[in-house]
Amino acid sequence: MTSSPTPVHLRQMRRANLRSLLLALVAAPGSRADLAARTGLTKATVATLTEPLLRQRILLETEPQSTGPGRPSRPLRFHPEAPVAVGAEINVTHLAATVRTLDGSTVAHRRTEIDNRTRDAENIVTDTADLIRTVLPDNARLLGIGLAVPGTVHDATVTRAPNVPGLTGIRVADHLSTLLQTAETLLDNEANLAAFAHLWPGPAATPDFAYISGDVGVGSGLVLGHELFRGATGFAGELGHVVIDRDGRPCNCGGRGCVEQYAGLSTILATAGHPTVDTLITALADNAPRARTAVSDAGAALGIALSSLLNLVDVATIILGGSYARLAEHLEPAIRTELHTRVLSSRHRHITVTPSPIDPDAAAIGAAGLITHRACHQPERLEHFPD
Ligand SMILES: [Zn+2]
Repeated sequence: MTSSPTPVHLRQMRRANLRSLLLALVAAPGSRADLAARTGLTKATVATLTEPLLRQRILLETEPQSTGPGRPSRPLRFHPEAPVAVGAEINVTHLAATVRTLDGSTVAHRRTEIDNRTRDAENIVTDTADLIRTVLPDNARLLGIGLAVPGTVHDATVTRAPNVPGLTGIRVADHLSTLLQTAETLLDNEANLAAFAHLWPGPAATPDFAYISGDVGVGSGLVLGHELFRGATGFAGELGHVVIDRDGRPCNCGGRGCVEQYAGLSTILATAGHPTVDTLITALADNAPRARTAVSDAGAALGIALSSLLNLVDVATIILGGSYARLAEHLEPAIRTELHTRVLSSRHRHITVTPSPIDPDAAAIGAAGLITHRACHQPERLEHFPD
């Protein structure tokens, strides 16, 4: 005879069931019967789990829909006033903030162009907090804040930010939480979070890919087996500092010949003789030789670095993000030439190089996703929101 489960077991089982239910609702709204069929839970369990969520205004029962004979179903979906996540990004040349629901819908979004290269952390974080205040609705119930930074992150600290050195060594997330007098802020690298935006809440198109973030800095987010790979101490994916010329140009990181010095946006614009990506794209459309050569040379440099990455981790999909997404059609031929020559697997399979469908603010979207993903996987975080 087995003993009956303890309350702890019951609590764990309830949370596991709630997780399944929330993930099903993130995928699509549905009636209780539909949700039961999709999760494998009984209709009675679905009814028990959804009742407090309806009281808390996390879920909403919509108008009856007749789908055939019998009683019309009443689909459940996330309530428009359900708790929301904020995703913010500190980029080298802009700040962005977005407010998102649990299923990833946008509530509000704003981006401010500002050059952060020589600013100190206090000013940058104060401006980020102000931007968040402007996008967050007054009555919003906040799940938390995700923050993307252009540098490596370990133990909630920016360990290295060569293009925004004012952030290095700073616990920027704690600083932001203090300014906003709110719950904890989760911190991660911008390329990691931009890659995560391609994974959650929608299903990723492929389980293994490299997201390449190309602006002043060049970074990457590696997704292997549907999981973001951060490395042992958060330094994975520092594609910008892959060396393509051992005696090459000096880099902000202290090294030489890093691909960022050949394929970073500052180099592309300076070589092309253009002040902005907009004017560069106009010149490319006009077939201006200098602009075409500058972008083609950057594509070749990027292709060499990507070849090393692909030979190491054997992914077959490269997503170009940031300014690279806008320049993708002009970068791609030179990237492809290098991949075809240098990647061993290229003779055996097709390598996809594609612009991100999510940019320009994928990092902020991924930062919000970090919070909504955590809430759905740890549904006890929803329990403290009152009825
Ligand atoms: Zn470097």
